[in-house]
Amino acid sequence: MSPNSTLWQTILQDLEKLYNEETYNELFLPVTSTFKDQNGLLTMVVANEFLKNRINKLYIAKINELATKYSSTPVRLKFVSQEEVIEEPVADRKLTIDYRQGNLNSTYTFDSFVVGKSNMFAFRMAMKVADQPGAVANPFYIFGDVGLGKTHLMQAIGNYILDNDVEKRILYVKADNFIEDFVSLLSRNKNKTEEFNAKYKDIDVILVDDIQIMANASKTQMEFFKLFDYLYLNNKQIVITSDKPASQLTNIMPRLTTRFEAGLSVDIQIPELEHRISILKRKTATLDANLEVGEDILTFIASQFAANIREMEGALIRLISYAQTFNLEITMNVVEEALGAVLKTKKKTNDLNENNYDKIQSIVADYFQVSLPDLIGKKRHAKFTLPRHIAMYLIKLKYNIPYKTIGSLFNDRDHSTVLSACEKVERDMRMDSNLKFAVDSIVKKIDSPSLKW
Ligand code: ADP
Ligand code: MG
Repeated sequence: MSPNSTLWQTILQDLEKLYNEETYNELFLPVTSTFKDQNGLLTMVVANEFLKNRINKLYIAKINELATKYSSTPVRLKFVSQEEVIEEPVADRKLTIDYRQGNLNSTYTFDSFVVGKSNMFAFRMAMKVADQPGAVANPFYIFGDVGLGKTHLMQAIGNYILDNDVEKRILYVKADNFIEDFVSLLSRNKNKTEEFNAKYKDIDVILVDDIQIMANASKTQMEFFKLFDYLYLNNKQIVITSDKPASQLTNIMPRLTTRFEAGLSVDIQIPELEHRISILKRKTATLDANLEVGEDILTFIASQFAANIREMEGALIRLISYAQTFNLEITMNVVEEALGAVLKTKKKTNDLNENNYDKIQSIVADYFQVSLPDLIGKKRHAKFTLPRHIAMYLIKLKYNIPYKTIGSLFNDRDHSTVLSACEKVERDMRMDSNLKFAVDSIVKKIDSPSLKW
């Protein structure tokens, strides 16, 4: 909910107490949308002239009295009918829809964002940016894998700024919508240019989500570059999200990426198990404050959905609605019934493309009969170093992630250690058929589907 619809909801609670049920249900309850919000004047839409006149004649004074009581800034409400809204000039209507109400998801706040090691820095910096838009870090660039909270954090910045100042114009735009707007700008007349400028330039904060989508769209990038410079020079806060660091954005023009790099970049990593459990707890509480889901169950879900919070939340929601529909207490059996299918499909996709680094590590450890801690650890005995090198080699082979990242999976070894381990295994395999055989057998094991999930 935008702050203004929150204001209306608060007013509604009082109206319910003040007037009889019939009046309340007929007149006030159906008013759900704030049409326009300009300089403290909120325009609310009602279904027809008749309702509008009744409210404006009989109740407007009381409503405005309540609005003043509940709002920290001067505010006044005005009621218009649906017909009048349609007669509004197009440009006017478009703008009000494009930002503020309806543009930000009001549940994406700092409050609802659970902080842990994986997102702590990103969170703290986002708070600072929201506190002093345009002054701390511009642009503010958030990157990380899908489903880890980039959009949430970005919109939290917008919601926070808006909560402190309803006058601020915040524009949230997905990069693909920017492309669409730009394409329609090209294909139409000059009226569109004005609309485009009004939408994108007459703002205080721009939030551009998933910038990597602009790859290859070079004309759009050029337009975005001009906009970026305009906003930047006017000290407007720019927030950008992406699935990769700016330096790795291929097919985006260097003059843009260097500008991104000139601001502040923060990344969001995969949250640790405990952190994921906290997120599930918070989510459970928002879904149903009275609902208790056991720790073991939350732990199970958190361990099954490590890499994507959106999927993890999806599983929780599915489980809860399943239990509610059939009126069941949430036990492990119910979890299996509700999520069995999801977990099985997930298992399949995991086998195909997810980063099961630890699975490789355990299979290698198993094959050579060493413990996992020894495989990952620092012991230098050949009994451990050979399997360790093979595991590094196989992770590189399967997932082609940076040597440095592989090093972080083996007790923080550095890039060059991993690189030489991988090269050694590759070289030795050519001369040593036993080694080749061992590595091939391990690869088969890694590739074979296992029955358990
Ligand atoms: P991204 O944009 O990185 O793909 P989203 O911001 O859409 O990810 O997040 C996916 C879902 O997970 C959203 O519902 C979001 O609210 C939730 N989520 C992600 N991170 C957190 C967090 N730290 N605390 C609470 N919810 C989170
Ligand atoms: Mg997103």
